Amino acid sequence: MIAKIKERAQRSSYDAIVIGSGVNGLSAAITLVSQGMSVLIVEGQSTIGGACRSLPLTLPGFSHDICSSIYPLGVGSPFFRSLPLQAHGLKWIHPDLPFAHPFEDGKAALFHRSIEKTADGLGLDSDAYKKLFYSLNPDWDEIAPLMLKPPHLLRYPFGLAHFGMKALMSASVLGKRKFKTKEARALLIGVAAHSALRMDAPASAAFALVLSVAGHLVGWPFPEGGAQSLTNALISYFQSLGGEILIDAHVESISELPQSHLILCDITPRQLLEIAADRLPGYYKQQLQRFTYGPGSFKIDWALDAPVPWKNEDVARAGTVHIGGTLEEIADAEAQVVQGKHPERPYVLLAQTSLFDRQRAPQGKHTLWGYCHVPNGSTFDMTERIEEQIERVAPGFGKIILKRSVLPPQRMQEENPNHIGGDINGGALSLGQLFARPSWRAIPYSTPVPGLYLCSSSTPPGGGVHGMPGYYAAQCAIHNWRF
Ligand SMILES: Cc1cc2nc3c(=O)[nH]c(=O)nc-3n(C[C@H](O)[C@H](O)[C@H](O)COP(=O)(O)OP(=O)(O)OC[C@H]3O[C@@H](n4cnc5c(N)ncnc54)[C@H](O)[C@@H]3O)c2cc1C
Repeated sequence: MIAKIKERAQRSSYDAIVIGSGVNGLSAAITLVSQGMSVLIVEGQSTIGGACRSLPLTLPGFSHDICSSIYPLGVGSPFFRSLPLQAHGLKWIHPDLPFAHPFEDGKAALFHRSIEKTADGLGLDSDAYKKLFYSLNPDWDEIAPLMLKPPHLLRYPFGLAHFGMKALMSASVLGKRKFKTKEARALLIGVAAHSALRMDAPASAAFALVLSVAGHLVGWPFPEGGAQSLTNALISYFQSLGGEILIDAHVESISELPQSHLILCDITPRQLLEIAADRLPGYYKQQLQRFTYGPGSFKIDWALDAPVPWKNEDVARAGTVHIGGTLEEIADAEAQVVQGKHPERPYVLLAQTSLFDRQRAPQGKHTLWGYCHVPNGSTFDMTERIEEQIERVAPGFGKIILKRSVLPPQRMQEENPNHIGGDINGGALSLGQLFARPSWRAIPYSTPVPGLYLCSSSTPPGGGVHGMPGYYAAQCAIHNWRF
């Protein structure tokens, strides 16, 4: 393998090499190459994009997003917005409703782009909803750089004060304090639970607020044709600037790479410990060893004979659907996962993109994307429990399944070594690790080895498809190299 990567690369040396072609590796690589640097991306898999890929997992004509699918922080990413991605084939699709939260009794809480319309559906909580979301900064161009910036770059932290006071609360407390109805509370908790934290954990409310504010201001869209279309637009732009990429090139050790001034790693701390073990000083190794990973995810992709038969027809207007019942029920399910248990009634996230994007499935047929959280490294099969949850709000769902593809935590990690034990965020999103990600360093992307950087979702601002860790890591690397 040592000779292989060096032999296959077009040059014997580069200004920069990026290990991994996830959105953060691609974002780092674009930032570097756009400065006129020679850049090589080295990707272990046979397809590009890491957790941002689409593949025909089930039947001919069906295309599935193998990992991520819905991109509020992607469409709102200040970095992506600075790139000509539309000219490279990216088209965002906005469903009628960003998300919906159906209940077993046939009712559903509906999240609209408009704060006003969302509030109108929340009865007694209408005013409380408006008060909460109008009080947060209503201008995305002002709030996005703050929300997507790493803590060490926040020049105006007082701009976050109002937001931060609420964001530091637990989602359960914020939901119960602000709202009385099960609908409003469920809308909030359904978003907070994306974090895979306990819902009584400090700062779990931050995820509800960031993603809800994004939903109102920029939507929860997805790329036409699937996640792969975003990756393809990024790689097309990278190559148009002269960047080079090698696939099927898993890096066992950084000594296998051609010479370069900079190496940026789109991998998590545990992998950095493996590929750079002989270069990292002991104290830094210890810091990385203390980095913790969050719960795993159990993912299913379905090929369906028809749209999901929701009890509440309005749910078919939403791109994303949160299932799991009330605030208390979801909080209980997520707490069980953190305690190492498998909830009978898991909190389930679904995306029904084929309802709005005809490129995903043959005429009249549909895809469905979904997952639930499980303990890290779990080997328990959650298929039945996930499908039972869907049946409760969409009776007859089982009858329309043509085929399913199941991705438990262990296989998720086999297919992408960044998904340690099925953790999809590159490390737990706990309060401590939001600030010290992956360790307490003035510049979290740098390592004690000159020229060696981390640029994955294990660095600020963390998980999600927005490219900001890659962009910031590359900016730091360029700055340190030049000055
Ligand atoms: C099931 C699932 C659902 C998700 N849903 C969403 C969603 O809907 N919206 C959202 O915003 N986010 C979602 N996420 C999270 C989001 O996808 C990730 O936070 C983000 O894509 C991480 O990007 P990354 O570049 O840091 O890492 P990755 O995308 O994981 O990329 C890392 C790359 O490095 C490669 N690599 C690793 N080790 C090596 C090595 N030694 N040599 C060479 N190559 C290597 C891997 O093969 C991979 O291609 C989801 C994630 C998963 C798994």
